Amino acid sequence: MKILSVNAGSSSLKFTLIELPSEEVIASGVFEKIGMDGSFYTIKYNGEKIRKEKSLNDHSVAVSCLMEDLVELHVLNNLDEIEGVGHRILHGGQEFSESLILNEDIIKEISKYNELGPLHNPANLMGAMAFMKALPNVVQVGVFDTAFHSSMSEREFLYPVPYSWYEKYGVRKYGFHGTSHRYIDKTMREYLQKDDAKIISCHIGNGASVTAIDSGKVVDTSMGFTPLAGVMMGTRSGDIDPSIIPFVMNKTNMSCEEVINCLNKESGLLGVSCLSSDSRDIEDAMEQNNEKAILAQDIYTQRIANYVAMYNNLLNGADAIVFTAGVGENSSQVRKTVCEKIKSLGVELDLEKNNCRGEFRLISKDDSKIAVYILPTNEELMIALDTMELINKK
Ligand code: ADP
Repeated sequence: MKILSVNAGSSSLKFTLIELPSEEVIASGVFEKIGMDGSFYTIKYNGEKIRKEKSLNDHSVAVSCLMEDLVELHVLNNLDEIEGVGHRILHGGQEFSESLILNEDIIKEISKYNELGPLHNPANLMGAMAFMKALPNVVQVGVFDTAFHSSMSEREFLYPVPYSWYEKYGVRKYGFHGTSHRYIDKTMREYLQKDDAKIISCHIGNGASVTAIDSGKVVDTSMGFTPLAGVMMGTRSGDIDPSIIPFVMNKTNMSCEEVINCLNKESGLLGVSCLSSDSRDIEDAMEQNNEKAILAQDIYTQRIANYVAMYNNLLNGADAIVFTAGVGENSSQVRKTVCEKIKSLGVELDLEKNNCRGEFRLISKDDSKIAVYILPTNEELMIALDTMELINKK
């Protein structure tokens, strides 16, 4: 069965065509600068990669190009081979706690939550509608980034603010990167052959979140009402005292929106280092003894370590700590420094095993009290698997 896994952003559209159950990636690619000057797209297939400059006015044009090219490039004999399309959707609010088959009414329902994810949700839904138009007879499935976290209890998801804010406006922790954390948990429980494994999943990419999972259920996660909360990230601050916001508004004459934008886009590694949001640049600058880069990395790794230690306590002792996503999979230095900062938990990293990138492997010593792993995430596969499952249930 061939399934398209789609992640539509406001000006981009990423896709992966996956054969199931073999999990083989048949083709993948990205449409960029949709609705802007200089739009183009790339498609990888059969060991080749093509790049085309093309005016892409909106997501529908991108989807039409993709459909034409998949047939023209002989990736598919015809479009009927696509049996389902799975769409990553950022926010499902409290209502959508599982993946589901989309139709126009459901899309309308989901769009109620656009105000909780204004940068991503409208684009995710626009992508879904473009595919519904292009492939009207194909099952379209929505997979929510928030869904896996719906198992959190009130103790974890409520903020200590007036209860009416939750009741009236839905102010609570939702959590994000759920599809990635679910993939990590599923893979680790299968690998460990332990259905009730307790996992601390560290998704450290440009965005980053740490999640505590017990027996397949999220107990707590570091992102919150929005993805701005939790650990320090590439450009996001993570947790700060909210009183900083009006204080900085007064000092700078920035609006509330501008300050929030600054916390989302100009903070984190970029903000502290005054250099870059990219972990590779920070590590290069550290080698040149750049003090701000050293400080940025120190805060960054400390905040991840703090969450891991807190979640180990919450889980009453984890079975495994797993690093994933761009930084987690690739930066041996971030993993090493985080593990040094959780030594009190009895974590012993094997420096030789840690010296690797992007492969699933155990990186702790045999006598480490908690096993530490690298596991490359695969949200696209998770989206495709959910889509297949819903098609099979139909
Ligand atoms: P996103 O949150 O955008 O999906 P990714 O998970 O792709 O992010 O992570 C991107 C980040 O991964 C980059 O900004 C960079 O900091 C980091 N990264 C990628 N490769 C390496 C590497 N070899 N060493 C250190 N960091 C890396």
